[in-house]
Amino acid sequence: MKRPLKKGVSGTGETRKVQEFLKALGHYKGALDDDFGPKTEAAVKEFQQKRFVTGIVNEFTYDALEEAFAEKNPPPVPLTIKEKQTFLKAKGYYLGAIDGMFGPSSKKAEKDFKLAEGLDARTNMRAALVKPDYEGVTSSFLRLGQYYDSVYPKKQIVIHHTAGGPSATATKNWWDSNPQRVATDFIIDQNGSVIRVFPKGYWAWHIGLGRPDLDSQAIGIEVCNYGYLTKQGTIFRNAYGGIVNNVYTLAEPYKGHVYYENYTDAQFASLDKLLRALIDEYEIPLNKDTFKAGQGGIFELMPEASSGKKGIYAHGAYLFGKTDMYPHPKLLSLLKNL
Ligand SMILES: [Zn+2]
Repeated sequence: MKRPLKKGVSGTGETRKVQEFLKALGHYKGALDDDFGPKTEAAVKEFQQKRFVTGIVNEFTYDALEEAFAEKNPPPVPLTIKEKQTFLKAKGYYLGAIDGMFGPSSKKAEKDFKLAEGLDARTNMRAALVKPDYEGVTSSFLRLGQYYDSVYPKKQIVIHHTAGGPSATATKNWWDSNPQRVATDFIIDQNGSVIRVFPKGYWAWHIGLGRPDLDSQAIGIEVCNYGYLTKQGTIFRNAYGGIVNNVYTLAEPYKGHVYYENYTDAQFASLDKLLRALIDEYEIPLNKDTFKAGQGGIFELMPEASSGKKGIYAHGAYLFGKTDMYPHPKLLSLLKNL
């Protein structure tokens, strides 16, 4: 403090701090405006009641304020090991027993969590651990061994559809029953609900080029959808022969197909919300010129995708034979409006 703070002094930044302390201690109800007016003075006097009442904040009063504030707002209580294990278990990083023993698997879990969340030593672990995942996303993890439990930074978001039925859980169960470790971070059910199938930061195969450098750094999202359909008289059949009623007809064929199962509005709404959260968290740039059907767009082969350039891509940007997701006009406008 350069000089004592008293009525009439303003704009130093220090008065604001004093007002914060006084407010937290219940003596001040005014604005934190850095203006040492009558209300601030009255609050200082009230605080000084049991001391020497001057209405002036000198070093002594400032220290007393700081001390009283610290007493009322103690630093968070450190987590017990069992608490930490419980939280890390809920987030999927810890799979062992809640035994209060901070062994190698507990240590790995904590390290992975911090890495995935970009936390440093000063982070309040309790606050970070109780913070929920993205809004509307439920965790439903695959068995260990169905994904790779090492954390990588994320540079790309790849949007897929499952070429399967409406249920996110059924897709997850299918992945769980296959040894290839194929999965995406998220699955969007036909009803719009979203599940996360392995902890944040970890990875599994979903691009199909056999390149761990790509898959480990790409967040995958699967939208439950049968994909392209075949017209047979007046009915539409999916690749398994089942009849599909909710058909979308593209104005221009996409990779030889005009009929696709329609994505639902609930899926678009969830995809929009999820993409917004992810691009914000991982600072994914939006190359809006590429959000279009046809050459130069993310639905056709793009060298940028397989070179690992940051961005959002459809699976078709990596592999010519992939039709997921297809360039539905609502998807294009969703991407353009991100
Ligand atoms: Zn795909």
